[in-house]
Amino acid sequence: MARRTKKAGIVATFGARYGTSVRKKYKKAAESSKKKYQCPKCTYSSVKRISSGIWQCRHCKHKFAGGAYQPLSDAMKNRLLIFKKVNEQMDR
Ligand SMILES: [Zn+2]
Repeated sequence: MARRTKKAGIVATFGARYGTSVRKKYKKAAESSKKKYQCPKCTYSSVKRISSGIWQCRHCKHKFAGGAYQPLSDAMKNRLLIFKKVNEQMDR
């Protein structure tokens, strides 16, 4: 049988407050911060967020700075692309 109501998930604590679109955005960010990510050092997928922007691998204890809600935020990805392009131009 199909569910008639949708569970609010992580934003259930907010109740009906703060507006739908804000809650939706927060839900997306908060859920991606709770996920496990791949470690850049040992490649195990056991990187968890310790605090906003701080990530640590549970496997090798490697601690590093990253995005607030993801180890590599979209803005950081764009910046890395720019760095790469600039480096390529410098080589020429
Ligand atoms: Zn690791």
